[in-house]
Amino acid sequence: MASCEHVNDLPAEDPQPRTPEGCEECLAGGTRWVHLRLCLACGHVGCCDSSPMRHATKHFHAETHPIVRSFEPGEDWRWCFADELIV
Ligand SMILES: [Zn+2]
Ligand SMILES: [Zn+2]
Ligand SMILES: [Zn+2]
Repeated sequence: MASCEHVNDLPAEDPQPRTPEGCEECLAGGTRWVHLRLCLACGHVGCCDSSPMRHATKHFHAETHPIVRSFEPGEDWRWCFADELIV
């Protein structure tokens, strides 16, 4: 059974989203997103892998912040990029 150690390192409360209005890089670059993900290490908001720019994945590779939460209304699942697991 695969498991994720990274959840143990998360802060007790989710960080405040830095750009609650949308993907940080898409807002800066004028590109579009499909769905949004919130980085639980730093509050970065990035776009999902269905989006053309995939900024949430790029953020993981740049910062090695492993876990994001869905930033879509009504969704609260978390995903670990490092383990490729719902956590
Ligand atoms: Zn993990
Ligand atoms: Zn984006
Ligand atoms: Zn981050």
